[in-house]
Amino acid sequence: MTEKTPDKVDMEKIVSLCRRRGFIFPSSEIYGGLSSCWDYGPLGVELKRNVKEAWWRAMVQERDDMVGLDASILMHPQTWAASGHLEGFADPLVECKNCHLRWRSDEVAGNRCPSCGGELTESRMFNLMFKTFMGPVEEDAAVVYLRPETAQGMFVNFQNVLNTTRKRLPFGIAQIGKAFRNEITTGNFIFRSREFEQMEIEFFVKPGSDGEWFNYWLEERLQWYTKLGIKKEHLRPREHGKEELSHYSRRTVDINYLFPMGWAELEGIANRGDFDLGQHASSSGKDLSYFDEETKEHFLPYIIEPSAGVDRSVLAFLCDAYDEEADNGEIRVLLHLHPSLAPFKVAVLPLSRRENLVKVAKEVSADLRRHWMVSYDDAQSIGRRYRRQDEIGTPFSVTIDFQSLEDNQVTIRERDTMNQIRVPIPELQKTLTAKLAGEDLFVLPPGGQVWKEEKRK
Ligand code: ATP
Repeated sequence: MTEKTPDKVDMEKIVSLCRRRGFIFPSSEIYGGLSSCWDYGPLGVELKRNVKEAWWRAMVQERDDMVGLDASILMHPQTWAASGHLEGFADPLVECKNCHLRWRSDEVAGNRCPSCGGELTESRMFNLMFKTFMGPVEEDAAVVYLRPETAQGMFVNFQNVLNTTRKRLPFGIAQIGKAFRNEITTGNFIFRSREFEQMEIEFFVKPGSDGEWFNYWLEERLQWYTKLGIKKEHLRPREHGKEELSHYSRRTVDINYLFPMGWAELEGIANRGDFDLGQHASSSGKDLSYFDEETKEHFLPYIIEPSAGVDRSVLAFLCDAYDEEADNGEIRVLLHLHPSLAPFKVAVLPLSRRENLVKVAKEVSADLRRHWMVSYDDAQSIGRRYRRQDEIGTPFSVTIDFQSLEDNQVTIRERDTMNQIRVPIPELQKTLTAKLAGEDLFVLPPGGQVWKEEKRK
């Protein structure tokens, strides 16, 4: 996290929008919050679900060489001995002798506390895994850990998946789930928290083809972000130097994103070789090798691991979508979220609360709700309601006015251009489906017409 970026959105603006509109709240806020834990509110839960859904769709559903898994968070403690986490999953830590705040020693300069200026202790290694006890007895034999990554669940299930799916190399296992790290210093909103979600792939390949597959996955993952609207110039691969590589890694490239605080890791892609299967095979005594029917050889596959953070992706999509426009002396705040990520796809807005208008509007929204998350809003002026939808990234608003009662037509307004078309109600759902899939607003259905052209793209 270096280079300051004056042209990027302020983190405060994102945090404030998230708080104000119900994307993200501090955890257990009525008790003063719990440090570095966050709750996703009504809009945040939709955005986050959509991010995970987009990942699952592209990485699992649309591929023939990937299967899913949902392993448990608590695993046999031997897992963490074999993986190296018990020994090595630690950061150097220093503590302030005065205020007792703890810091990562590589993040403080000198031996004075950045908060109160007090003297710091010598640095010692601090394990980041959360410990708890399984069963009623709190003794060493009952210690289990909250997983600090989802990956190990996929390694230990390698033979189960192979035997039950009959997949041949190359193939992958994909998983989305919570991970926990007792990070020493947290912060930057949801960028670094102690409870977070990961979207991880373990892709098993024949040794020798790993270099090529690594490049493939790097490209594939960059494209996933850009297809969903992240600007190319806001993503930058960063190759790890030899001295920086983790003990298991033959090559690691981070996909860094230009967050408000600077360039920082969004996703890591690692070539883990046969380290994990080798470790778990020798630790469990089970054969985790793969039999190649062509060459009649047994070997341990190599693993390419693209490992992304759900919360960091949510933050990146929010930051990239955030925009402010001058609008008749006011500022229009809008989120240019990709339609597949937007919490609501459509807003239904009756021009007034008159009974006959509300009746039609309720019917229209009930019909659209069968297809999408729909926001229904009848409070305040129509201009204000459009602004409210712009601010939460709703791609289309449908307005029901008095003329709708006569001609059975409604207005569709596009978030980004503010252009409007008018379409017959029976054509509405089909028209919105096409527009959400990217069709130009001015491609009109039968009986449709251009209504208001604010500014042509
Ligand atoms: P960092 O260097 O930022 O601590 P890392 O290299 O330890 O990250 P990985 O172990 O590679 O992270 O985890 C894969 C992904 O999980 C990261 O790219 C990130 O998106 C996400 N992630 C890791 N730690 C956290 C955290 N504390 N809070 C939120 N997301 C996280």
